[in-house]
Amino acid sequence: MSKKKVSLKDFSHKPGRLVDIDGSGFLPLPPPYDKLDLEPKIKELSEEAQKKYECDLDGFTGYKLPRPETEEEKRKLIEKFLKGLKKLFDSENNWTFQQILFLTMEFCAKCQTCSAACPIYNESGKEDIYRPTFRSDILRRLYKKYVKTGGKFFAKVSGNDIDVTWTMLARLMELSYRCTICRRCAQTCPIGVDNALVTREIRKIFSQELGITVAPLHEKGSVQQLRVGSSTGMSAEPFLDNIEFLEEEVEERTGMKFKWPMDVAGADILLMHNAGEFLAWPENPEAFAIIMEVAGLSWTLSSEALGYDSVNYGVWYDDVQFAKVALKHAQAAKKLGVKKIVLGECGHAHKALTVIADRVLVGDLNIPRESSMTLLRELIQSGRIKVDPSRNDDIMTTMHDPCNLVRLMGVVKPQRDVLKAVCNNFREMAPYGVENYCCGGGSGFAITQDLNFPSFRENLSGRAKMRQILDVFQDVIGPEQKKYVCAPCSNCKGAIRDMFASYDVFDKCNILYGGLVELVVNAMVDIDKPFLEWEWH
Ligand code: SF4
Ligand code: SF4
Repeated sequence: MSKKKVSLKDFSHKPGRLVDIDGSGFLPLPPPYDKLDLEPKIKELSEEAQKKYECDLDGFTGYKLPRPETEEEKRKLIEKFLKGLKKLFDSENNWTFQQILFLTMEFCAKCQTCSAACPIYNESGKEDIYRPTFRSDILRRLYKKYVKTGGKFFAKVSGNDIDVTWTMLARLMELSYRCTICRRCAQTCPIGVDNALVTREIRKIFSQELGITVAPLHEKGSVQQLRVGSSTGMSAEPFLDNIEFLEEEVEERTGMKFKWPMDVAGADILLMHNAGEFLAWPENPEAFAIIMEVAGLSWTLSSEALGYDSVNYGVWYDDVQFAKVALKHAQAAKKLGVKKIVLGECGHAHKALTVIADRVLVGDLNIPRESSMTLLRELIQSGRIKVDPSRNDDIMTTMHDPCNLVRLMGVVKPQRDVLKAVCNNFREMAPYGVENYCCGGGSGFAITQDLNFPSFRENLSGRAKMRQILDVFQDVIGPEQKKYVCAPCSNCKGAIRDMFASYDVFDKCNILYGGLVELVVNAMVDIDKPFLEWEWH
């Protein structure tokens, strides 16, 4: 049971902050963080930010949603929201998820099995507002009142009425950014209700109908990506300069001198990375290039706008942005005439381009897409890449399962087969595979650095992951033993990096995080020097 029930009346009307989150109710972490004062402090919003931005849910925000100044402004926003709500249930307007959303609204047994599966709800100490069904119940009541025939009348007589106020909508918008869309709740629901989809569709109404978007996903994400070619802000020219620099770095690190294939028409494979890798973790694309080169594959990178950035943040908040970006990705591949696209280590890019884009990419744009996880396994198992796992013997490894790649797509075993082939000291987290917990940075949280949102991510949404990592290495938690969290996803690495930095995990526990291919290259017999650099970054 929840600690404190939050009534819908309060949600719609109570002024000021609805719930105070100070960390005292959070589930305790294992050593060496087993006291609350050993954890990073939760940052309070400044008074100025509280005045300026909507933050009346739980005191966290990273989205700079300005408070409307007049009642008229609020009224117009409410009207737009209700119009958008109706569109969600219209197959002409919601070509993506209308059917499953309809079923989610119509059926829920209120068994709360989903709550037991939600890391944010549980780690918070069962704060009612973070319950997976809390936001769905609000949307369900709105659906029943405003979308179903006779809804207003039945809402009144059934006692399930709900008042639509701007206070309520602003809180609902914030609440849709308190869920990482990890889909653990959806996976566990015995009747297939999808509370994660509810989160996503609420975000969609705000983005598509009210023009209320969040900067990290929209302005700095999709819009920037479509304007300059990459969500990092890197246009083609600096990208090409960057590649030259990485070629030199590979030579320094390994002695291997080769040009990375760029814009090669008719190559078998177009390899697409999350462009963040080139800037934050260049060793990852470097390791991929080494593997492709040694394996003798016909492959290429693309310098076409978006062809060098597999990011598609629309998957988390907006169908229009999603479709625009997916089309550009396919067009870059079509222009080169490649046989297939292989996605590097980025979970959401996997789901966006291989699964959801199937609804957008038709005809000759429906180019085969494949995960790098299966390709890597094939290269190792076929002997095209020769590895000696004893080269990684000084490291104890565990594997994080990116939600989009694993739970949503079912890619579970290939990366484990690879990891086990290159590391003798591997142990699974509990739980692992499709049951594993989100890194805490899913659905855009990893890239949201404004105001005090990082506190929500590092103290709460990433808490289950932090617990799993500390638990799996608990018998060797001291700095004497090198430990590595293999996280084959750019967003997950970003979230784990920031969480580790705020808890000082590298210095205290000697745990590093990184991708899969770095371990592969470190074990390759063709490479003389160790590839993995054991330093914090
Ligand atoms: S969404 Fe599914 S698991 Fe959650 S309360 Fe409803 S029926 Fe139960
Ligand atoms: S998607 Fe994940 S974070 Fe969101 S409600 Fe479900 S279990 Fe919780």
